[in-house]
Amino acid sequence: MGLSLSDSGLIQTKAFINGEWVASNSGAEFPIFNPANGETIAQVTNVGEQEAKDAIEAAQASMQEWKVKSPAERSNVLQRWHDLIIDNADDLASILTLEQGKPLAEAKGEILYGASYLKWFAEEAKRIYGDILPSAQDRRSLVIKQPVGVVAAITPWNFPNAMITRKVAPALAAGCSIVLKPAPETPLSALALAELADRAGVPAGVFNVLPCLNAEEVGEVFTSSTTVKKLTFTGSTPVGKLLLRQCADTVKRTSMELGGNAPVVVFDDADIDLAVAGALASKFRNSGQTCICANRLLVQEGIYDRFLSKFIDAIKAFRLGDGFDKDTTLGPVITDKALMGIDAVVKGAIDQGARLVTGGQSSDLGGWFYEPTVLADVKPDMGIFNKEIFGPVAPVIKFKTDADAIALANDTSFGLASYIYTQDISRIWQVSEALEYGMVGVNETAISSELIPFGGVKESGHGREGSKYGLDDYLETKYICMGGLSA
Ligand code: ADP
Repeated sequence: MGLSLSDSGLIQTKAFINGEWVASNSGAEFPIFNPANGETIAQVTNVGEQEAKDAIEAAQASMQEWKVKSPAERSNVLQRWHDLIIDNADDLASILTLEQGKPLAEAKGEILYGASYLKWFAEEAKRIYGDILPSAQDRRSLVIKQPVGVVAAITPWNFPNAMITRKVAPALAAGCSIVLKPAPETPLSALALAELADRAGVPAGVFNVLPCLNAEEVGEVFTSSTTVKKLTFTGSTPVGKLLLRQCADTVKRTSMELGGNAPVVVFDDADIDLAVAGALASKFRNSGQTCICANRLLVQEGIYDRFLSKFIDAIKAFRLGDGFDKDTTLGPVITDKALMGIDAVVKGAIDQGARLVTGGQSSDLGGWFYEPTVLADVKPDMGIFNKEIFGPVAPVIKFKTDADAIALANDTSFGLASYIYTQDISRIWQVSEALEYGMVGVNETAISSELIPFGGVKESGHGREGSKYGLDDYLETKYICMGGLSA
């Protein structure tokens, strides 16, 4: 596959079930492409219903021993897994760039970010506390926390490493086992993680990886299984809704990290350079393919022209290219289908009256590249205003008052991340509290880390990943009433 790694054992192309690398029963495989040039880089095992059932069974069996290990034992395994990821970060970053396209430095950043969840939850594994509640004299009321059970996870291609560790680390810390279906575009990063999990001593069956092209088939097995007690999903809102409906029949616990439509609200009193830098980083990280990406730049009228001009100047410094080229600051988008979708959104906005300031077309580099694009004078009635773009396209919208800004920002069914730029302390509080979002960045767009509760409201989903709240998604609360205690 043209990749020179320090450890070629990190390239795995079969499914990982019950601690074994297995081909599918049918022998089926599917191709993985390099988005920078469209070439096939690997053929990966394509599992189906039977392998998914086998993995669930293995997860259920292995969990019986995993959940009763001491907190320190589970913690040690997660810590070892973390250390191995750090030791192999360069190789993991290369695998990630090859299949996903993001610049190598960004990929390395994702590996370290992904590893941070393992370290954090290795520590949190030792802090799963219960409670003793006030009770009548003849009884004691206790609350204990227990693992929810076998967890099924479905993850996207935009963060092929970190979206996995963010789910697996708390699940394992809580004492759950997990079956994972990674995105069909980027299974190699998931399989490399499985290889390192195995080396770290994660017991067979506790972490299983099921690459597959037919997401519906495996999704149906996950959601209909009575053994699987929880589904955790990161992906698009339509698929999240479908999975929620499918989970209803077994009344499964769910965590849903779905789409976003993040506003970056820049007020007249903002530090303009800070705002430009923040909007730029948020908009173009991973070529605009993150769910917390700036999706709408709402800029107050007094600062609008100056902001736009500085923003466009800064974009000129971008270097579009293959993620392995060290000068590249902007990689390709994930597929040719995604490329066409982004172009259609841009053309649609222009047809509706948006002003194209820069970009607006795919590039001739080969592969799936789209030029960084700015559309000015976008209006709320244009299709792009309510579209999760998932590409390097920045729509800029002018507003007048704080009330307008809040109304515009909230005028969406999504509610994941939002950002505001202002120096006014009362405005910071008023606007932050009025925004219907799970996360608000104030004068900052790099808001995510293992230390914070990542998640959304409205149709952006429910549940939180990371932080002291992140374990709750994988724990049940059990009340025990101990009676008959009167003398
Ligand atoms: P995107 O359009 O960004 O790929 P999706 O929501 O389609 O977002 O994909 C996110 C994850 O959900 C991927 O792993 C994908 O394979 C999976 N997926 C898509 N459709 C289904 C489905 N019907 N059932 C289960 N998983 C699905």
